[in-house]
Amino acid sequence: MSMKAENETWQCTKNCGACCFLDPLQREDALKALSEEDALTYLKMVGLDGWCIHLDKATKKCKIYSSRPEFCKIHSLIKLFHIKRQNLNRYAINCCREHISSIYGNESTVMRDFNHNIRNENGGDEKLCGKKTAR
Ligand code: SF4
Ligand code: SF4
Repeated sequence: MSMKAENETWQCTKNCGACCFLDPLQREDALKALSEEDALTYLKMVGLDGWCIHLDKATKKCKIYSSRPEFCKIHSLIKLFHIKRQNLNRYAINCCREHISSIYGNESTVMRDFNHNIRNENGGDEKLCGKKTAR
């Protein structure tokens, strides 16, 4: 599937992990979109500090990458938020920017790296939390 749109191609960037901040108070929309079973799984993953218990905070990598829940994968956005496949690229980029902004800020190095990577097809990083699989 082509993920190109407006000269930006979604891809994950290293040293981020912003979408793995799962505090239910700040992720209400995501939580509401999940099935009852997935919501339970989600809530069990929330650590006392709001971060996913499976995130290695030092490396910002998912410790259960190969067995992470389906809702952690970028393709799940289509089903969860009823978006068209052709809009996934833009939607995913916006989601990442929102998460990165809320965790690190718009002027952060992570935001700068993310913006650089999505504008440079060769600049992406093999993932991390695995969300690069959407490309
Ligand atoms: S998917 Fe987006 S928000 Fe999540 S770790 Fe990757 S770049 Fe960061
Ligand atoms: S990708 Fe891994 S670390 Fe991130 S929320 Fe999912 S299980 Fe947790």
